[in-house]
Amino acid sequence: MKPAVFDYVRAESVAHAAEVLAGAGGDGKVIAGGQSLMPMMNFRLVKPSVLVDINAIAGLDRVELVGSRIRVGALVRHFMTARDPLIAQRAPVVTAAMKHVAHLTVRNRGTFCGSVCHADPAAEMPMMTVMLDGEIHAVSTRGKRMIPINAFFAGSLVTSLEPDEVVTAIDLATMPPNMGFGFHEFARRHGDYALAAVAVLMRRENGRPRDVRIAVMGLGEMPSRIPTAETVIEGNELSDLTIARAVESLRAAVSPNTDLHASADYRRHLAGALAKRAIGDAWLRAREAEPA
Ligand code: FAD
Repeated sequence: MKPAVFDYVRAESVAHAAEVLAGAGGDGKVIAGGQSLMPMMNFRLVKPSVLVDINAIAGLDRVELVGSRIRVGALVRHFMTARDPLIAQRAPVVTAAMKHVAHLTVRNRGTFCGSVCHADPAAEMPMMTVMLDGEIHAVSTRGKRMIPINAFFAGSLVTSLEPDEVVTAIDLATMPPNMGFGFHEFARRHGDYALAAVAVLMRRENGRPRDVRIAVMGLGEMPSRIPTAETVIEGNELSDLTIARAVESLRAAVSPNTDLHASADYRRHLAGALAKRAIGDAWLRAREAEPA
């Protein structure tokens, strides 16, 4: 199909983009990489009256360290995130997850922020933003605001972003150098949206796991942390029994859907298998990184 009729504005600045969105009466859409928006427009699942193209706005294509956090600009493409040395050094779990995002052509255009704004429950970068305490910077003609990630996702493809707001950047927490990570996902073909994925962070202190974080995607309406599974591991000896208990509590906490790709039961089972591997990898890396 082809999209419904729309106007197109190539914004010259963030203020210009915000002005056009404000004038669209709630019916405008920002276009960044267009990799999710255009298919949705072609299927007429969305019919914006005006597209606000942010691709010509200078300064939005940077990854930088701001204080202790990594700022990812709204025009940082997936291929840039994958190769960025700051992200590789300070948030290596993002680099690992990015390897699973889509195919080359999509990665050349799609953006980190666009993926988070799109809020697909099976997308890797929204999950990374949950895992690393993301903060979303939004601008409108009413001013600027920062939205913490736990107030951002509201459901599958739904966020708390107002229709007149443009996201300029997303900040992520950096990982301490002794933090191990594990990331495992299962997709039918590499680069397809995953059936499920699990990411784990932990560091090792006196032989025990600390600061444990476990996040999942593809297992509910939005990516989430699993505090019950984290608590099982935090500060306890990481025996096979502890891992089995964490896996059990993760399986109990998720609410996957049945669709044409997999049943809810299969996804729940998969989540446990992926969690076991991700916990193992995180622990191994934490051990290697533990200060002598
Ligand atoms: P766009 O398509 O331009 O926009 C998406 C939505 O976000 C729109 O609603 C738009 O208005 C909004 N938006 C974008 N930027 C902003 C902003 N700065 N401010 C406010 N709103 C904004 N993704 C994965 O994570 N994993 C995959 O495995 C995967 N596989 C894919 C396979 C295919 C074949 C395709 C076509 C896409 C796939 N994707 C996958 C999606 C891809 O990562 C998209 O690029 C991404 O989800 C959206 O980024 P974008 O920059 O293209 O956003």
